[in-house]
Amino acid sequence: MPSELVLLVSEHIKLSEGRKVLKGNCPFHNDQSESFMIYPVKEIFKCFGCGLEGGLSEFNEGNKGTQIVLYNSSFSEVLLF
Ligand SMILES: [Zn+2]
Repeated sequence: MPSELVLLVSEHIKLSEGRKVLKGNCPFHNDQSESFMIYPVKEIFKCFGCGLEGGLSEFNEGNKGTQIVLYNSSFSEVLLF
């Protein structure tokens, strides 16, 4: 069964699978290099770009403030490709 955190995050960003971690472009800063890591076993995430880390509730908290940025950034990514 996939972790709750993974399900939640995958609603926002595209995740690619590594051996023990899932990674993707951080939704909390303008990330071009998949700095955002999720450790499904521990239900935690960490971004090596902006330093944000935590679990489900931290992701939700961060999301509230950055929703507009989040949508803007995926929009500009669409324009880039
Ligand atoms: Zn980040």
